[in-house]
Amino acid sequence: MPIHEKSLIRPENLKTHDSLILDGVDVSGHWSTFIESRVVADYNEAIEDEIAALPGGEHIHRCWQCGSCTNSCTVNAINPDFNPRYWIYLIRMGMESELLRDKDIIWQCVSCNKCTYACPRDVFPEGVMKATSHWLELKGHTPKSPSMHFDEVFTEQIVKTGKIEESRTIRRFFQRTNQGLLQDWMLEMVKQLLRGLPIGLLTRMGLATFVAPRTSNWSRASAAMQEYIDEQHEKQEEALSLAQLVKAAQEDVAA
Ligand code: SF4
Ligand code: SF4
Repeated sequence: MPIHEKSLIRPENLKTHDSLILDGVDVSGHWSTFIESRVVADYNEAIEDEIAALPGGEHIHRCWQCGSCTNSCTVNAINPDFNPRYWIYLIRMGMESELLRDKDIIWQCVSCNKCTYACPRDVFPEGVMKATSHWLELKGHTPKSPSMHFDEVFTEQIVKTGKIEESRTIRRFFQRTNQGLLQDWMLEMVKQLLRGLPIGLLTRMGLATFVAPRTSNWSRASAAMQEYIDEQHEKQEEALSLAQLVKAAQEDVAA
């Protein structure tokens, strides 16, 4: 399926002639603009299966490229390079090198799920964005993203204590991502909280940052959750290695 969006043409692929006369007509500059053709030779047919094997990527095969996800996307409204429809197209076509050109922005999905509600095919594009970021990390194309660090901190806290304490989560997240706690927006938020919340609640929140309260009798639930998480990790690793074996076999047949 061809890509029609003008914004997707990379600037380096747009060529013009400073001085060009055709049949006596001066078409210098932007009048002679053309798109340089390119050849993609490094298809990776395993990508779609690999991403489909990760949580959130399961329904990527349903996409019919209508573009409703990109149209409704919160991040796309700010940065047109953030384009879920296009990335799903690249993944399904196996165009790995093209996908890797955007590897540093794919993780920026803010999980607002507007795309999920707009998608007529139940692809769950938000999940596909998560799965793609995860895939980029597992393959070593990107370092662990801030959102992945956040998910890990959040999950660890739930599994360990059965509770979510926002102040503790934020503190751990900042530590994990080497960020200082005293950021301007944080100070402003604390100031607002101090003005608006009862002192008892504020004290409890402050204490919870340092002393993690636990849900009573949580140990069995915690063990069950950890077992499930380990099982899922194992399945994902297996799926990624299986997809690699399929790819190697396809290359052998083609050789
Ligand atoms: S969930 Fe992510 S991809 Fe979907 S609309 Fe929101 S920012 Fe865009
Ligand atoms: S809205 Fe759904 S079907 Fe349409 S392009 Fe996005 S993921 Fe594909």
